[in-house]
Amino acid sequence: MSNRRDFLKNASLLTAGGLLVGNTGAMNAANAASAPIVSAKKKLGLQIYSLQAELYDDIPKRMKELKEMGYVNLELSGYSKGKIAGMDMKEFKRTAEVDMMDFKKMAEDAGLKIVSSHVSPDLGGTSFMLEFKRDLLPKARDFWKQTAADHAKLGCKYLIQPMMPTCRTYDDALLACEFFNDAGRICNEAGLLFGYHNHHMEFQRLVKPGDENKPQNPWMPVGDQIEDIFIANTDPSLVCFEIDVYWTVRGGNDPLEYLQKHPDRIKAVHIKDTAVLGQSGLLNFENIFNQMYKNGIQDYFVELEYMPDGRTQFEGVKDCAAYLEKAPFVR
Ligand code: MG
Repeated sequence: MSNRRDFLKNASLLTAGGLLVGNTGAMNAANAASAPIVSAKKKLGLQIYSLQAELYDDIPKRMKELKEMGYVNLELSGYSKGKIAGMDMKEFKRTAEVDMMDFKKMAEDAGLKIVSSHVSPDLGGTSFMLEFKRDLLPKARDFWKQTAADHAKLGCKYLIQPMMPTCRTYDDALLACEFFNDAGRICNEAGLLFGYHNHHMEFQRLVKPGDENKPQNPWMPVGDQIEDIFIANTDPSLVCFEIDVYWTVRGGNDPLEYLQKHPDRIKAVHIKDTAVLGQSGLLNFENIFNQMYKNGIQDYFVELEYMPDGRTQFEGVKDCAAYLEKAPFVR
């Protein structure tokens, strides 16, 4: 629900983690097209969704190329029943599937480490949107037990749920927190951290039951943002957060503010821009990285949604690595 205060809040992003980065980002982006200078020190991470189906034409070769670009850590996407699959986003369908242990070996042979994996629970629904209902808790439990066991074999650190379940009401969001706590308990038992990754939908507001008819100042936002409900109502010992800085800005919020407010809850970060990092001027990556280091965050993953200029995802991912390799604020 947008109103004047949200508008002013958006405008105030000018100098923080989002919007109008100033010259630093743009200058680094301009340099990024040249060959990357790979630093042994920088531990770049990549969400493999960024490569979409391109990774799967020759996985060992592609993984070696990623290492040469400077990536060392991977976050998986496309897990299902012990397999990893690519996604063709134009056709919106799964492409070639690979046994996850074979995938691990190919990554390790290339010098890459699988640190994290994005997985949404398969609860048997037919809709694209994930719908949590209380009677699905046992099914979700069975799903996470199997999934956590599979990922423990990979030596993964995180299992991250990347998509928001449908939250039409405040109670829906609270029920989602129960599912997250439950998943977190199961992941903890398997030696993994369970986390939640946001898009922009999590910054919609929901009104607490009983507050619907309270008098409202028309300039003030009404209700709580879903992301804030999730943070407040999940157990910090069971659920952490992977903040996607791009989607946070798209949701009208400042990723820097979230990093400052929740240093104990945000354990991983998606480093993302409209396309290649640093080119839009939308994100202030210098402030974001400085705050990440201040918070002790080690794990971040570059994500590239799509290349708008007809170049391949691989070329885009390479430019993203070059941007981070050249950025003096990335250690
Ligand atoms: Mg993301």
